[in-house]
Amino acid sequence: MATTARKAKKASSRKSAGRTVKVKKKAGRKATKTSQAGRSGRMIYFFGAKKCDGDGTMRAVLGGKGANLAQMTKIGLPVPPGFTITTDICVDYFQNGNKFPKGLEEQIAANVRLIEKETGKKFGDPSNALLVSVRSGARDSMPGMMDTILNLGLNNETVVGLKEATGNGRFAYDSYRRFIQMYGDVVMGVQKAHENEHEPFDEVMDGLKHQLGISEDLDLTEEHLRELIKRYQQLIKQRTGREFPQDPMKQLIGAVAAVFSSWMNERAILYRRKYRIPDEWGTAVNVQSMVFGNMGDDCATGVAFTRDPATGEDVFYGEYLVNAQGEDVVAGVRTPKPVAEMAHDPTFATTYKQLEKVRERLEKKFGDVQDFEFTVEKKKLYMLQTRNGKRTALAYVKIAHDMVRQRLMTSEHAIASADPDALGQLLAPIFDRGDYEQAKKSGRLLTTGLAAGPGAASGQLVFTAAKAEELGNAGQAVVLARVETSPEDLRGMIAAEGILTSRGGVSSHAALVARQMGKVCVAGAGEVQIDYSKGTLSCAGQTLREGDAISINGSTGEVFAGAIETADSELKQVLVAGTMKPEDSEVYQYYEFVMKLADKYRKLGIRTNADTPEQVRHAIAFGAEGIGLTRTEHMFFEGDRIDAMREMILAENVEARREALAKLLPYQREDFEGIFRALEGRPATIRFLDPPLHEFVPHDEKAQRELANKLKISADAVAKRVASLHEFNPMLGHRGCRLGISYPEISEMQARAVFEAAAKVQKEGIKVRPEIMIPLVGFKKELDNQVAIVHAVGKQVEQETGQKVKYLVGTMIEIPRGALTADEIAETAEFFSFGTNDLTQTCLGMSRDDSATFLPEYTELGIVKGNPFASIDVAGVGQLMRIGVEKGRSTRENIKLGICGEHGGEPHSVAFCHSIGLDYVSCSPFRVPVARLAAAKAALADR
Ligand code: PEP
Ligand code: MG
Repeated sequence: MATTARKAKKASSRKSAGRTVKVKKKAGRKATKTSQAGRSGRMIYFFGAKKCDGDGTMRAVLGGKGANLAQMTKIGLPVPPGFTITTDICVDYFQNGNKFPKGLEEQIAANVRLIEKETGKKFGDPSNALLVSVRSGARDSMPGMMDTILNLGLNNETVVGLKEATGNGRFAYDSYRRFIQMYGDVVMGVQKAHENEHEPFDEVMDGLKHQLGISEDLDLTEEHLRELIKRYQQLIKQRTGREFPQDPMKQLIGAVAAVFSSWMNERAILYRRKYRIPDEWGTAVNVQSMVFGNMGDDCATGVAFTRDPATGEDVFYGEYLVNAQGEDVVAGVRTPKPVAEMAHDPTFATTYKQLEKVRERLEKKFGDVQDFEFTVEKKKLYMLQTRNGKRTALAYVKIAHDMVRQRLMTSEHAIASADPDALGQLLAPIFDRGDYEQAKKSGRLLTTGLAAGPGAASGQLVFTAAKAEELGNAGQAVVLARVETSPEDLRGMIAAEGILTSRGGVSSHAALVARQMGKVCVAGAGEVQIDYSKGTLSCAGQTLREGDAISINGSTGEVFAGAIETADSELKQVLVAGTMKPEDSEVYQYYEFVMKLADKYRKLGIRTNADTPEQVRHAIAFGAEGIGLTRTEHMFFEGDRIDAMREMILAENVEARREALAKLLPYQREDFEGIFRALEGRPATIRFLDPPLHEFVPHDEKAQRELANKLKISADAVAKRVASLHEFNPMLGHRGCRLGISYPEISEMQARAVFEAAAKVQKEGIKVRPEIMIPLVGFKKELDNQVAIVHAVGKQVEQETGQKVKYLVGTMIEIPRGALTADEIAETAEFFSFGTNDLTQTCLGMSRDDSATFLPEYTELGIVKGNPFASIDVAGVGQLMRIGVEKGRSTRENIKLGICGEHGGEPHSVAFCHSIGLDYVSCSPFRVPVARLAAAKAALADR
């Protein structure tokens, strides 16, 4: 059985990427061999009772850990002295081919001497040895991703001194063997070569235990540990040809280099990709004098939060272990005790009182919940680190609410520190925790796809929209699994609890519709094989049939075989279902408090992408200030409308087309009336028909025959027309404004529906603000053509109804030519809305529906930083947007500017939209709170 230390080491063991990765130069800095101290002008910052060079504001230079150690020292908390080597040195180290800059070693030595002075201990002194820890510390915390070395300074002589000083030989030799093991692994590279090999140091230890007939590490005596140390040192010699260094200064130099290098290990790189931490930041290195929580029963180690990070409750939350090292708490082999129990333990009661004070001071000084580590060495408390505590979305809103009201946190910090994306957690249905854990334990997790629509769904597996509708309408929970979805699946998607696709990305139809409807969705789960003909879904060696239970988690992308219990979120019950009163929900009140704060700071307007009055109402409840995009084509799929739509498409001539359009007009008018009423005077951007017509017609023979019967024409005629609509590249084909230009009667009908509805609702006394939007415009003349139709119909309807409706006509900027000629287009357009789904597709030349096949690899290789369909590709698409904004304003100063692509609800993209001065972002109803918060964050960052 492994010891705690070994487990901890495994938990943090990493594979060095074994390659040199280039760190880009920091802007404005020259990378030269002589570059020594980067921007900050010094290499090392000392922190100690007598001298403290840094402070909490210096995260960029000292890393989060270094800055906070300095800050804690400054406010008089008991921090063991040490020093921080700056992040700039790390960057220099990589730029100089993994070499230290000139003078660093001397400065390290000088700062070691300062620690020696403060502690009265000496590096390498057998009678009173200074021991240090060497830890990484990036600007943003990257927990467990990089390397740490403890007990540095021990060697064959100082270990004897440590034994004498502590009177505990076992402790001294165990500390030494842990150090050799860590050092051998991290610095000297003694690691397993293959996945299925044993850790070499573990193997040596197991060999010794086997020889001794011992099963527990704790049974190893001092004598055994000495033998183990010998064997460890032999192992290092055998594997590396080098001796384990005895000189503490040499040890330290090696350790610093290794911690720098760990910035580029695979795990750290992956973590940075996920959390968008720039490679250029580098890590600082903290060298700090060691304190021991494992010297006896009057020693302890612990981790604590100043409030509960899961619920946000104002309680001291944490745990501690008596006679243990920090890593033992993390490793979870011994069960730690709740920190509150310290108060009742005579040995630690005084320390507990001290900790209570520390808790208060930390919150006051840092203005946020702190997650800190402490050690008690012979009843004396030491603070080893503090940082802002990571928390759930629930804890975030409660803590922001409570701490701002307690005047412990500034409103600005409450918003600036938010993770807008995490708000989705508050809206999502949730898996019952126990059931979920059970499902994972029993191997029911099939795969993980793209987390495309947050929340949990569980139900019967179905493969067709019709079946989903049939069972859904009968009150059964279903999960609709499709290879990919199309507008034809819409009804099934509405009826389903959740949607699973095996193909498609975050802006695929399934993902887009799911987000708009607030549906749970896992998209592009590539390992899932769906066989429609057999009615099976296979994955990870398991095959599910139609009707089998399946569960998906759209917050994580997980797909499970079998049922898992779910529950509706409180926020949804208040804002959407209306089944709970706001005053009955504490969560709602906390949420509302934060949202109001966000509204105070944001500059961007927030609109929504919504196609139905219901969606509009939801979005308004979430704080939307209008509609940024109504996709009118979605309306044609409801009820019998699709028949009239198909009739229109199959019409042989204009008259027949007009006849079919006349059938669609009342439907469309009614839709718009509902939307205008729901908006209660807020603006509505209504987009004319956009998708290629082939998306509306049936492609299989049986459905074509049925349609022919309905329309009383031959099946052959249907088939011929469908075939004639075939395009090799429909996304770049006959779609967008090209449809309205070829078939002006379609635009006429849509304009009439808008104006008639507006006139009617206005007459009822409700203000209406239609903004008609023409899609896919690349030439000013395309827009002119369509605008002429709109104005003509507007005039006609005004004459017919006697109602003068104020309206705007504008366009989407969603192809590069539109952006590049925005000055010309703005002569006609009264507003632009950036359609960044298509703009990304056309700027990058990457299909929004097919790029899932290669994008993951692109991300992994670092060709793209993230998914450009989820988060704006600032350098490319962003540049087109900037050009669009500048050129648009050059000919129409007050042009209204927004975005309605999926990016409008993604925090980084929202920040970008703020930076280029858009007036609003528009996103699906359930993303509205995320966008509000992201917009406020962006405005604060701008200050
Ligand atoms: C877009 O292209 O960004 C857009 C909003 O339009 P659609 O997704 O409907 O093509
Ligand atoms: Mg588009």
